[in-house]
Amino acid sequence: MSNDAPVAKDWILGISAYVPGKAAADDGRPLIKLSANENPLGTGAAARAAFLAATADMATYPNPAATKLREAIAGKHGLDPTRIIYGTGSDELLHLAASAYAGPGDEVLYVRYGFSVYEIAARRVGATPVVAPDADYATDVDALLACVTEKTRVVFLANPNNPTGTMTSRAEIARLHAGLRPDILFVLDQAYAEYLDPEEDDHGLALVENAANVLVTRTFSKIYGLAAERIGWGYASADIIDMLHRIRAPFNVTTAGQAAAAAAIWDDAWVEESRAHNAQWREWLASEVAALSNHGLRAVPSRTNFLLILFDGKLTAEAAMKGLWDEGFATRWLPGQGLANGLRITIGTEEQTRAVAAKLRAMAEAA
Ligand code: PMP
Repeated sequence: MSNDAPVAKDWILGISAYVPGKAAADDGRPLIKLSANENPLGTGAAARAAFLAATADMATYPNPAATKLREAIAGKHGLDPTRIIYGTGSDELLHLAASAYAGPGDEVLYVRYGFSVYEIAARRVGATPVVAPDADYATDVDALLACVTEKTRVVFLANPNNPTGTMTSRAEIARLHAGLRPDILFVLDQAYAEYLDPEEDDHGLALVENAANVLVTRTFSKIYGLAAERIGWGYASADIIDMLHRIRAPFNVTTAGQAAAAAAIWDDAWVEESRAHNAQWREWLASEVAALSNHGLRAVPSRTNFLLILFDGKLTAEAAMKGLWDEGFATRWLPGQGLANGLRITIGTEEQTRAVAAKLRAMAEAA
């Protein structure tokens, strides 16, 4: 090989690639995925029908303005459709935000145990990631504000958060925003917002209406059961949206994906069924874990479709992950995020959740 091969930028060399949730054990055995926070009930019938109808035309590019999708989102949430941007998953929007507002010499701030894409998005543009300490796995607004410097350009916060599942209250979100300089972009990542009870809403979308420095991001990958289609959306001031449009990929959301998402957003029955299922089995699994506290297991309080379980007894998180492989389940062990004692488990169907709980109990008692 020639010594003249291209050399990536220093800041790219500093990136560890995103680790996706596993779908197979180390030996290749296929597993049921409780590792990527997908909807265990699948996709709603309305979204599926709209998707299939839209596959009739695969030869032409998608609508570059995603007009019907933006109108559907705007209608559902009472928003200005011209200030909605769409992305190849909300992941793309997180990258666009960092790219437009941060670069070498700038700082991008987020919490310890924040979503792992924030670090990648910051490093990819040569910015410096800054990590604020947590408060027992939850977001500590004072700690975040204490980490703001004159170099801070972007603050990322997922609410509720992944991988911890914790929720920051509306009042704390308002306090955080009020404490940030107006020239700092506050990205409020609401990937799991649809799992909240409506009265728990952190008012992020309302904050956008009153502030020129807030970008809210949402996704169709979670409760809407459209993770395969890679569709996210964002809401912000006209100026921010203009900047993000300049750098997004030209046809970043597929025709069938746009159609499926536009139908999914009006499928209230599907969303409510999914939310109720999740709440029931999340609380059930949390109580099963609480019953194993004498074996060192603890579930971090979650408002999402997953539980972060901490293993501080004889049974380790790694052993629990491997034991769950034997039952046919993939879960998410997170040593790369500083959570070697943590296993993140997506809430599955009733049958899956019961099987996970039984295996956890058996392993904890045998350890
Ligand atoms: N934000 C958070 C907090 C997430 O957990 C995820 C999915 N893992 C995303 C954003 C990105 O999701 P998507 O790109 O599928 O919209």
